[in-house]
Amino acid sequence: MADVVIRAYRVSGYVLGPCPKCTKESRGLVMFEDYALGWECLECGEIGRADRVDWIEGSDPNAEELGEGADSS
Ligand SMILES: [Zn+2]
Repeated sequence: MADVVIRAYRVSGYVLGPCPKCTKESRGLVMFEDYALGWECLECGEIGRADRVDWIEGSDPNAEELGEGADSS
């Protein structure tokens, strides 16, 4: 069985890609009680586990309003 890999911004914890249940792109990174990583949908509450997280460095375009993204070239 293939590993489930999610892509997430290290700083904000925003998880890329649509929720498989409600198809909205508003998933956040969560950690389960056994320290496994996964995601939770902020729209419908669906959760899922991930075997690996592909961390994205740099600013989250969804959080630009916070003024944290200063790595523009
Ligand atoms: Zn959802």
